Amino acid sequence: MTDAGADLVILGGGSGGYAAAFRAAELGLSVTLIEKDKLGGTCLHRGCIPTKALLHAAEVADSARDGEQFGVKTVLEGIDIAGVNKYKDQIIARLYKGLQGLAAAHKVNLVEGTGTYVGGTTVEVDGRRHTGKNLLLATGSYSRTLPGLELGGRIIASEDALSLDYIPEKVVVLGGGVIGVEFASVWASFGVDVTIVEALPRLVPNEDEFASKQLERAFRRRKIAFKTGVKFTGAKQDDKGVSVSLESGETIDADLLLVAVGRGPNTAGHGYEEAGVKLERGFVLTDDRLRTNIPNVYAVGDIVPGLQLAHRGFAQGIFVAEEIAGLSPRPVDEAGIPRVTYSHPEVASVGLTEAAAKDKYGAGVTTFTYDLAGNGKSQILKTSGAVKLVKAPEGPVVGLHLVGDRVGELIGEAQLIYNWEAFPEDVAPLIHAHPTQTEALGEAHLALAGKPLHVHS
Ligand SMILES: Cc1cc2nc3c(=O)[nH]c(=O)nc-3n(C[C@H](O)[C@H](O)[C@H](O)COP(=O)(O)OP(=O)(O)OC[C@H]3O[C@@H](n4cnc5c(N)ncnc54)[C@H](O)[C@@H]3O)c2cc1C
Repeated sequence: MTDAGADLVILGGGSGGYAAAFRAAELGLSVTLIEKDKLGGTCLHRGCIPTKALLHAAEVADSARDGEQFGVKTVLEGIDIAGVNKYKDQIIARLYKGLQGLAAAHKVNLVEGTGTYVGGTTVEVDGRRHTGKNLLLATGSYSRTLPGLELGGRIIASEDALSLDYIPEKVVVLGGGVIGVEFASVWASFGVDVTIVEALPRLVPNEDEFASKQLERAFRRRKIAFKTGVKFTGAKQDDKGVSVSLESGETIDADLLLVAVGRGPNTAGHGYEEAGVKLERGFVLTDDRLRTNIPNVYAVGDIVPGLQLAHRGFAQGIFVAEEIAGLSPRPVDEAGIPRVTYSHPEVASVGLTEAAAKDKYGAGVTTFTYDLAGNGKSQILKTSGAVKLVKAPEGPVVGLHLVGDRVGELIGEAQLIYNWEAFPEDVAPLIHAHPTQTEALGEAHLALAGKPLHVHS
């Protein structure tokens, strides 16, 4: 049987797939969306939303534990993990319901089942073929592990960590990137003894070195142990625990080992390679208009090389819908995508690191770092950190890097500054409300424009 004629068939209903579906429907296109599990994908069910709920519960725990420093008498009696999971699951359920309602309102033809790409613009689900005028591949990603390290038992991936029904005493987190750092932060707030192992020389190694230093300092203060520049060599588990060996000869015993070494593209077993889709290390190769090598077949989200972030998936999905509707949208600029690590403290950035800016623009790149010690609101919150700006020679601000509690919320302004190619002189006259953390961004631009206010030289 063949279902032919939809303007757009989409394989995968995660951030990238459903954003394309909704935008295409808004533009009057007919859409078939094939999803084998739940609409919303990784981000809603196993990623962004549940982790941020856990991080918020962790913040509440920290506030209860630390009330005294604000003169408030509080005691942290303990963590009721069933209660935390209930809170987290309620949020997911509510958002999931909202998303299903949106799909219905957009009259998206939802097909439940596992799709296999069979060539052209056709996907087969349970023996029925769906052929679109265009096809979008958006099958997302999976938790990677290392060669010889099998997931199971006490060796877990982020999906398992999200559904734990107990709080371990001791955990080793393998990987000091976003996911590893966020779980380490949650567990430390819940009273767990955490050690992060990272093969590269610093935590959050994709960020500006400044951010890694700030985060490492804060984690040291929080007694979150981390070993950087050291390779993992193996793990053994039994009923009592897991023993993690490092290249240094050291062994760390723990209740659990969380493997957070990155996410691989979910492209095997769906017929892509067999039908001639060009892949590289498993990722689907596209041009800057997100076209694969096969006519009228596009790809978005985590299967496309680049930042694996939900809002990149949204932006790419919207792009593809507008492209096939003939609107000629502007390609998504990878450097203009904001990046946030929601740990305590948070790390947020957009644009180029200082090192990348120097590679691109040479030694004339200038930077300015504004310490949150000078920011009233950050002092009220008792958070430390800083804002660092990176400026091109005779040019605009090309990188903004922030560390501190709640700075993730400042990335909205930071990304406007980057994406609108603002000069410090453009931002300096804009007034930031006092006392807010946004003032730190304002102050940094005032200083770069040559008129510092609350800055000690
Ligand atoms: C622990 C964790 C925390 C994260 N936190 C954040 C965050 O805070 N902010 C952020 O921006 N990003 C975060 N991410 C990343 C974010 O979840 C992903 O970038 C995003 O979900 C990618 O969207 P996608 O559409 O490419 O894929 P996915 O969301 O993975 O969706 C792919 C969908 O395709 C379906 N599918 C796959 N194969 C088939 C098939 N053959 N047939 C039918 N359906 C199929 C899957 O069931 C899935 O629903 C996090 C990820 C993890 C794991």
